[in-house]
Amino acid sequence: MYYGVDYYPEHWPEERWEIDASLMESAGINVARLAEFAWVKLEPKEGQYDFSWLDKAIEILGRHNIKTVLGTPTASPPMWLVRKYPQILPRDRDGHVMGPGGRRHYCYNSPEYRELTRKIVSAMAEHYKDNPNVIGWQIDNELGCHESNRCYCDNCLIKFREWVKRKYGTLENLNRSWGTIFWSQTYTDWDEVIIPRRTVGAHNPSLLLDFLRFISDSTIEYQNLQVEILRKICPDKFITHNLMGLFGGLDYYKLAESLDFVSWDNYPRFRGNPDPARIALSHDVMRGVNRGRPFWVMEEQSGSAGWEIFGPHPLPGEIRLWSYQGIAHGADAIVYFRWRTCRYGTEQYWHGILDHDGVPRRRYEEVKRMGEELKGITELEGSVYKAETAIIYSYDIRWAIEIQPNNPAFDYMEQIQKYYTGLFNQHVPVDIVHPLSDLSKYKLVVAPSLYLMTPEIRENLENYVRNGGTLVVTLRSGVKDWNNVVTDKTLPGELSDLLGIEIEEYYSMPQEEKYHIKGIGPERFTCKAICEFVNPKSAEVIALYEDGPFAGKPAVTLNRFGSGEAIYVGADVDLGYVESLLFWLITRSKIEIIAMGSRDVEVTVRESNIGTKFIFLLNHSDRSETIKLSFPGYIEEITLEPKEVRIVKR
Ligand SMILES: [Zn+2]
Repeated sequence: MYYGVDYYPEHWPEERWEIDASLMESAGINVARLAEFAWVKLEPKEGQYDFSWLDKAIEILGRHNIKTVLGTPTASPPMWLVRKYPQILPRDRDGHVMGPGGRRHYCYNSPEYRELTRKIVSAMAEHYKDNPNVIGWQIDNELGCHESNRCYCDNCLIKFREWVKRKYGTLENLNRSWGTIFWSQTYTDWDEVIIPRRTVGAHNPSLLLDFLRFISDSTIEYQNLQVEILRKICPDKFITHNLMGLFGGLDYYKLAESLDFVSWDNYPRFRGNPDPARIALSHDVMRGVNRGRPFWVMEEQSGSAGWEIFGPHPLPGEIRLWSYQGIAHGADAIVYFRWRTCRYGTEQYWHGILDHDGVPRRRYEEVKRMGEELKGITELEGSVYKAETAIIYSYDIRWAIEIQPNNPAFDYMEQIQKYYTGLFNQHVPVDIVHPLSDLSKYKLVVAPSLYLMTPEIRENLENYVRNGGTLVVTLRSGVKDWNNVVTDKTLPGELSDLLGIEIEEYYSMPQEEKYHIKGIGPERFTCKAICEFVNPKSAEVIALYEDGPFAGKPAVTLNRFGSGEAIYVGADVDLGYVESLLFWLITRSKIEIIAMGSRDVEVTVRESNIGTKFIFLLNHSDRSETIKLSFPGYIEEITLEPKEVRIVKR
């Protein structure tokens, strides 16, 4: 298993490199990511390359049995480049140039920047193609970070027009699809098509959604031009990119398609206390966009993180706990950010394993302990995460709800997290899947707020339920088509037959209002933001509103469809209700529950291709916690110390 650090030798005197490599080796480190921001040192003047320092660093690491992953340095164009090619700079929505000084100051669609990118990436690839210590590449760094892909320059305007023309073919189709008759926005020529620069009032939601798709596509196109070069010159080295977990500025399903595998950057204590269910969801989203296969954590938090303000250091045991949590969710490599805390620049307080003084202390010792342990569990590598439940997650839907949240308190990601946490708290592993993915292997699928709908998605869901699946769909589903235009059908539109309901009326609550529903048991639960009067057609009612405008009316229904069941939750209900509903459905759909007991103990399962199961138990709390494991022929009560991790092999 690869176990590594993000290392910036260019920040430190060469005399130190040998000491660093030796300390790394002692801690069990066997891979380092290098060079991702080092463009100016690799190409100090245009066309003049200097790889000597990097060769030396790679060679020293290699002598200490540490392989290298090279980052392409395109996230930080050097000052000489910006001075010579100022046209590469991005523009904000007011048309202002975003100058250099930070990072990511380039337009992804700039033809000049793409050419400069081709040159530096090709030069690096040619230089390192036969270096046995270089095992793979990371493209750029955190594409889209700081919303850097939302550029409103003239390059982007021209490219957007081309993108729209490719998508819609004719102006007539574009005008119909976007509903441009509204406010006289009809286009009579392709050159009239705009990008959503600042305007009076708000832009057409269909234009806004397509613009977000376009900038996502542009960023992916930019990534893929690098992928193509590296594939051609270095066919035997892997290619990855470091994604950002729950970041929503890119369609990660599409971005991951051209990569050998996904890696990502995990900062559980970025600010404040970590939420284990949120970290778990992030890992599962990353595994989901990686089509279920093992992934890497390319930046795992090893010290306190932040720019101007920094959060708490990982508490004793947390670096190890978070590393195992990644492995428990399907990571096959953990790489810590960063080896040593930098003295310069805006990340002076983004701490690494070593502090500024380079002295190994408790965080180093914890990394070292983990390194020792990993040598004993190499058989884990390549095993896959096992889940019988899935949550459907769509970037298009996320963007559409971000454009029009409907109610200030309504949030798509909160919905996803809430249903995820409801399963997480009951020790039920979850896969995160695209709306069109094959659902047949799941016993329970939750589809929060399918705000945008297509006939293909409807068909996928109907087939799943017809063949015996249990599906949960929540409020504001089937509202719009994929172009972000509201349906003229009675809600939930395309999903009415499957769910056996009609939405009689919906109500957006003032922020101070909260209503209640009564579920399956005696308890009552709150709902906020938006509630819907769910009128059952073929469905049966399983919860009613107790108060509010729909008092006494149905809020939650269950419809039998084919051999399966489709549940509709017409309110933004609290976690308590989500948990009780899911508990009922977990039992009903015969999902295997392998652990009962403390909610602070996370449970996941990875299974090897020969059927060996690795059951991970992770105690996220500061107290000892007990959990009862049970599966056929095996029952055991296990007590875990604070922050303890246990792997049970079956
Ligand atoms: Zn641009």
